[in-house]
Amino acid sequence: MRKRVYIAYTGGTIGMTRTRAGYAPASGNLQAQMNAIPELKHRSMPLYRIHEYAPLLDSSNMTPREWLEIARDIGDHYDDYDGFVVLHGTDTMAYTSSALPFMLRGLGKPVIVTGSQIPLCEVRSDARENLITSLLIAANYDIPEVCLYFGGRLLRGCRAVKLSADGFAAFASPNVQPLGTVGIDIQINWNVVRKVRPKQKLHVDDLASPIISALRLFPGISPEIVRNVLRPPLQGLVLEAYGVGNGPDHDAAFLRALAEATDRGVVIVDCTQCFEGTVNLNEYAAGTALARAGVISGFDMTAETALAKLYYLFSRGYGNEKLKREMQRDLRGELTATG
Ligand code: ASP
Repeated sequence: MRKRVYIAYTGGTIGMTRTRAGYAPASGNLQAQMNAIPELKHRSMPLYRIHEYAPLLDSSNMTPREWLEIARDIGDHYDDYDGFVVLHGTDTMAYTSSALPFMLRGLGKPVIVTGSQIPLCEVRSDARENLITSLLIAANYDIPEVCLYFGGRLLRGCRAVKLSADGFAAFASPNVQPLGTVGIDIQINWNVVRKVRPKQKLHVDDLASPIISALRLFPGISPEIVRNVLRPPLQGLVLEAYGVGNGPDHDAAFLRALAEATDRGVVIVDCTQCFEGTVNLNEYAAGTALARAGVISGFDMTAETALAKLYYLFSRGYGNEKLKREMQRDLRGELTATG
């Protein structure tokens, strides 16, 4: 029996065509391109169905509304397919691949998010390999996770970051080993892949519209800016701080702005600006001061995942304490809690 894969085609470079204004998505184009690829008809390939979203988006236009649309789409077709491929622009791919694992609670089948740096219609394109390999993994490997496949690396979706604007190996997961590497063979690191619980069932958890923001610290940042960002109705903030999560502890007005907000119930999650490593708010005075102001640790979560997780948790109706606890707990393999 040929396996069956559902392709959710949201947009992105992979299916774009040349227009006078530059590359842009065009309805029907991807399907036509794929029909012309003989390898996709080979009997070792799964049967696939493409669901094209309307409108097709450059992923710079994605919002949490579209994350939810993708999650619901997968939920609606879950029982009829062996696996799922989400075709997506690379620009915000790491945000979507970070958000989907939270919404797809109890996922037991592979969901592979992929795209390309050069459209499928071009001769020298990375789209073909990304597409074919993603289809093969979605069909044939029991990986119960949302993954991001790109340029030979299969990554846990909620650990992935875009690291290159123009390279073919454009994504990495700096704090966790890849789930797989693809060369002559497809090699899966089964010791990293999460296990499914027996009788686990998929539930698609909705997203509401909480007010979330992100702020990257920089030398000289004015407390006024911080205060403005934290103003009501803000509910959650990803604070991208220095090194192991440090900030300017000599600036009393800055610390006051943070403390006033956390006292009001704003959840401020500290993530590092570093590419690799984890937040530890106990290491420096410049970190403990933030913790005293009520800031919580994001440990080694990416800023993309911390943001998506805030959207998810604020949509669950939790009280402040429970929400902060869940934020610092590993739910989908997104963080390594170190104490
Ligand atoms: N701007 C495009 C997008 O994110 C880039 C890409 O797909 O590579 O949709």
